[in-house]
Amino acid sequence: MQIKLTKENLHSEFVKLIERISGEELANCYQCGNCTGGCPVSYAMDFGPREIIRLLQLGQEDTVKNSNSMWLCVGCLQCYCRCPKGVSAAKILEALRQITLRKGEDHEQIKEIPFPFMKNAPQQAIVCGFRKFVS
Ligand code: SF4
Ligand code: SF4
Repeated sequence: MQIKLTKENLHSEFVKLIERISGEELANCYQCGNCTGGCPVSYAMDFGPREIIRLLQLGQEDTVKNSNSMWLCVGCLQCYCRCPKGVSAAKILEALRQITLRKGEDHEQIKEIPFPFMKNAPQQAIVCGFRKFVS
């Protein structure tokens, strides 16, 4: 299947939803890659921030939803600081997380987290983790 950059993909309902939640305009990204270059966790992501935005521009909604990128972003804002177009990939990834969590789809199941881990992990990490991974 040939993937094309079309007006329909660039302004799909999914893209509009992300833009409404994040306040960002995906078409502003011209794919320079500065965001991914500075991202401390892009090495572990299925797709770095630049690629996530490109996939969304190309209408590859399912690929983005099934990737681990939104769950690994630590919100450090390095991507935003480096972006010459003022696009915040962090906000876009946060919007993707919110879309999933608002559907009640938890990324982590609390009851499956081992008790010894819960007992020893810093309280702040647990609270932050729940906020990020649980609806
Ligand atoms: S905010 Fe997220 S995507 Fe942006 S640089 Fe930090 S970890 Fe990477
Ligand atoms: S730094 Fe900005 S313009 Fe460059 S790829 Fe990342 S989001 Fe797009």
